[in-house]
Amino acid sequence: IGIFISPIQILVELMEMMQKGLSGFRRFLDVMETEPEIQDAPDAVELKDVKGRVCYEDVSFHYSDDETTVLSHVSIEIPAGKSVALVGPSGGGKTTICSLLPRFYDVTGGRVTVDGQDIRSLTLKSLRSQIGVVQQDVYLFSGSIRDNIAYGKPDATEEEIIEAAKCANIHDFIMELPDQYDTFVGERGARLSGGQKQRISIARVFLKNPPILILDEATSALDNESERWIQHSLEELSKNRTTITIAHRLSTIKNADEIIVITENGIAERGTHETLLEKNGIYAGYYNMA
Ligand code: ADP
Ligand code: MG
Repeated sequence: IGIFISPIQILVELMEMMQKGLSGFRRFLDVMETEPEIQDAPDAVELKDVKGRVCYEDVSFHYSDDETTVLSHVSIEIPAGKSVALVGPSGGGKTTICSLLPRFYDVTGGRVTVDGQDIRSLTLKSLRSQIGVVQQDVYLFSGSIRDNIAYGKPDATEEEIIEAAKCANIHDFIMELPDQYDTFVGERGARLSGGQKQRISIARVFLKNPPILILDEATSALDNESERWIQHSLEELSKNRTTITIAHRLSTIKNADEIIVITENGIAERGTHETLLEKNGIYAGYYNMA
């Protein structure tokens, strides 16, 4: 099935969201506003045969409309297929670190590389095609559940779409709906719970199958029951993918290959769950409190 979602349709959706003042819009708006600054270099090359090694090398950053330093000389190395978890108080810069990877913003110092290549030397399209994002505010457009899952891989087969929905633990739910995969969601469509929407967005990423994954507080808006289900899907999704996770709940990141504690003063601590507990610092404090 060929599904094509036009930029116009997305714009219309965004207008609707703006009028309704839905959260989640700000982020899209931020990206759209900054988009003109972020463009392919004249000699940009395609990112190909991605292994998924991600490095932040001495990265500094401030938002253009605000000179306040958000990140100062941050270095993070994530070997292909490994995971890093970012924790710390709100406003420390966790989301900002994540947004630099798909180049929603460009660094103001240092560089970010994928497989050793500065991401500013790559085409935006090829870079972003290799990165899957699951975030707290799920964006579904008006259309069928099938179209919503296939977004990001418009040429997906029916089998691939169903497989992705199964991986995201949403297939059984979809099959119980009167119109199943043809069920309309969005504006005048089915009312889905936060957890169901989240699982559709996870199915999307399973289908896209990117080697690099960003999970930004993906389960923080959910009740405990939904969170458990989704946590399980996210663990499956992260397997063998380079993953950056931001989580409120520390239980979900215990197994990360590296945990980095970020405060407004930068990186405060880093290590594995075990070494950080031994250190008995900020992370241990969070963990013992939870
Ligand atoms: P966290 O995800 O750890 O809560 P953020 O990366 O969202 O932190 O924010 C880090 C800092 O950058 C905060 O001071 C925040 O106010 C600021 N900030 C975030 N987004 C923007 C933006 N689009 N424009 C200007 N400042 C921003
Ligand atoms: Mg954040």
